Amino acid sequence: MSPTIRAERLLADLTHLAQIGAGSDGGIHRVAGSAADFAARDWLDKTLRCAGLHSYRDQVGNVFGRTQRGNGPWLLIGSHSDTVPGGGHLDGAYGVIAAIEVLRTLHEAGHPAADHIEVVAFWDEEGVGAGSMGGLVGSSALCRHPHAEELSGYLELHIEQGPRMDDQGLELAAVTGIVGVRRYRISVQGVENHAGTTPFSARSDAGRVVTRTAAAVQDICQEVNGSVVGNVGAVGFGPGTPNVVPGTAWLEVEVRAASDAILDLVEQQLRLVLDRIAAEEGCSGTFTATSAKPAAHFDTAFVDTVDGVCHTLSDRTERLVSYAGHDASVLSTRVPTAMIFVPSTGGFSHSSRESTPDHLLVLGAQALLDSVLAVTAPLTRRTLQGASA
Ligand SMILES: [Zn+2]
Repeated sequence: MSPTIRAERLLADLTHLAQIGAGSDGGIHRVAGSAADFAARDWLDKTLRCAGLHSYRDQVGNVFGRTQRGNGPWLLIGSHSDTVPGGGHLDGAYGVIAAIEVLRTLHEAGHPAADHIEVVAFWDEEGVGAGSMGGLVGSSALCRHPHAEELSGYLELHIEQGPRMDDQGLELAAVTGIVGVRRYRISVQGVENHAGTTPFSARSDAGRVVTRTAAAVQDICQEVNGSVVGNVGAVGFGPGTPNVVPGTAWLEVEVRAASDAILDLVEQQLRLVLDRIAAEEGCSGTFTATSAKPAAHFDTAFVDTVDGVCHTLSDRTERLVSYAGHDASVLSTRVPTAMIFVPSTGGFSHSSRESTPDHLLVLGAQALLDSVLAVTAPLTRRTLQGASA
């Protein structure tokens, strides 16, 4: 039997952290670098020290906790403690508080695994502050730091931030990876002309190319693979007035998919469709890739372990890919990594409506503890053998 986390302490700590940066709008305002963000990190330090643990910060602001006699390599567990402006009380915070609860529980139980675990509250995952370097800042800095060499792996517990688990009545999910994200800018050149005197047949309407292409994005995604999502987030017409047929137009599109191979297929189709529509409208289009984040594939053995633990705790569990970015995508480039999801009620996140039933928050934290024990079992066995030798 593995030790059991203390549900009331987990929930009380979540409530306490939610008060730091709480706004009158019901949302949490703890943007990285804000006074509330620093206050939260001070409180996390204090909470770790009160539990008899050693707490320290690195030069970027990541908060770490481990036992006093801790001994590497460490299995890192945690998430981020910053929020978007008016964010929810669980995004990031849940993973940090649950990680502290897991280490605290194992430490109190005198479990040998406690000495091989390190808790982290990452700095600036969200990337929304004025001087931010674009998000995932703390985890990226850690992966460049020599301390990354001392880590045996990374486990992150997080809310799903979407509706899939809630819709399907799932309680836990083992996350297999994080979608890749590509962004494109499509620019179209047509011929500006009088909107009244130019017959349809004589137009080279750049605006029509952009709107027809924008409308095709969803179909292209679904035809390539049912799990792909795409979004046209910005469009523009030049000169942008109702009595002139647009001579120029542009759109920006983002596509997310579980593998880079699927993203390649979507890109190919987007280019083909743009060329076809541009030709039909007597225009020319250029297609520019503006950014590409590769898909993250988590460690197969870690995912199998987490999936096994989830099945032991609940029969309503599945493997899922994450459509949102997480610190785990960065860590997975350096150490074996996996994630656990619990559902987000109604799929809300980055919103004050973000919530998850208490019993599932408790279940997720227990799944993290059990996963930690399963992953560190070889290390712990060595420690026990060393002690008895
Ligand atoms: Zn998050």
